[in-house]
Amino acid sequence: MNCELISVGTEILLGDILNTNVQYLSKELAALGMNVMHHSTVGDNEKRLVQALHSAFSRCELVILTGGLGPTPDDLTKEVCAGYFGCSLYEDESILRGIEAYFTNKNVRMPDCNKKQALIPEGSIVLENRNGTAPGFIMEKDGKIMVILPGPPGEMKPMFEKSVRAYLKRYTDKVIISHSVRTFGIGESAMSERVEHLLDGSNPTVAPYAKSGEALLRVTAKAENEKEAEKLMSPIISEIKEKLGEYIYGIDTDSIEQATVKLLKEKKLTVAFAESCTGGLCAKRITDVAGASEVFHCGVVSYSNEIKNKVLGVKKEHLDKYGAVSPVVAAEMALGVRSISQADFGAAVTGFAGPYYEGCEDPIGLIYIAVTDGELVWLKKLTTGHSKGTACRDYNRTVSASNVINEIRLLAAAHPEKRSEGADIIEYINSF
Ligand code: ATP
Ligand code: MG
Repeated sequence: MNCELISVGTEILLGDILNTNVQYLSKELAALGMNVMHHSTVGDNEKRLVQALHSAFSRCELVILTGGLGPTPDDLTKEVCAGYFGCSLYEDESILRGIEAYFTNKNVRMPDCNKKQALIPEGSIVLENRNGTAPGFIMEKDGKIMVILPGPPGEMKPMFEKSVRAYLKRYTDKVIISHSVRTFGIGESAMSERVEHLLDGSNPTVAPYAKSGEALLRVTAKAENEKEAEKLMSPIISEIKEKLGEYIYGIDTDSIEQATVKLLKEKKLTVAFAESCTGGLCAKRITDVAGASEVFHCGVVSYSNEIKNKVLGVKKEHLDKYGAVSPVVAAEMALGVRSISQADFGAAVTGFAGPYYEGCEDPIGLIYIAVTDGELVWLKKLTTGHSKGTACRDYNRTVSASNVINEIRLLAAAHPEKRSEGADIIEYINSF
């Protein structure tokens, strides 16, 4: 079935709010096997909403609208939609009681205008709203279906999940399922090159995407049912795994920190961070993951040279001779924090996050990362190429933290073997 989405709300047109409802609904509808053909947004304006409905129904059978179900006079979606199908509105006694109860529970008097929300289009299916006062509606006429949902995502999503999804299932005989293969450490083009022959497929499709220093491949299949879709994707995903190897940190995983925490847990390993330019971001991202306490010992934000020396034991002469942003200082920071924390792995990062300013002599975007298991130190040098503008600091810090976490992931993945690449022996560090 072909469908379209209409978002109603002047605040979306003005850029005051981000239209996350269309993203959510598009994904959900695709998963149901619906073809989402068009998105449109109209302000709270009767004439333009009628026009939008006309054009949508000239192209498809199902239109889902969000927003404009509130109690105020500018909220007119329900009235316009009912009018479009020629339905009148009546006051539903039990819905009115429900709205009153919503206010009583909150110990607030119900404003008179909320009565408007108990007006129901004749012949519609009413969708209960457990998270607000505006019910949603499904209306059908002459083979056309309208689904009308409230604007606030916290009301719209539960309503879709509770009632709309099951309702729409009867109109679809296919499912569309996707898996995201997420990689780190390989650029989007290099990744695409390795799997080039898979990118032309039509079912499953394989599409590359890049996002804040990461690259992912989305594999999507359309089939009669979930099992069939998985069967179509399985050989493709196996081949991608073979071609991209350890660049892959997870499939359908949310983030590299999630994959890393999971791996550390599985292998019963722990980590501690010594951070300079990332200011605690590595620790923050690892502790964003529920259950991080099993794998995370501590983070030291050693911004000043004094703390690098006093707390982490970085040699003063190394700081003076090589500077805080140097491989040897990174290595000593990692060794220092591992020794303080007694974690299995110590990780450190030091670099110039920028941005560049007039007269700045630091090579902005140069970052050193070190990880250690106490015997060996693995060093990584990044030159991000981002040195100017307000976004560069953010980018450099995010990418640095992602690389630190990824280095730990690679160490843990190889464990109990030693990770083969990029290791420098401690004696080498000590020779500085
Ligand atoms: P209310 O009863 O709150 O007025 P409503 O159904 O009338 O709900 P709107 O007035 O259109 O919905 O929007 C209310 C709020 O819901 C917006 O201020 C915004 O925070 C959120 N919202 C509306 N539409 C969207 C959207 N498309 N994407 C994300 N958020 C949205
Ligand atoms: Mg409103």
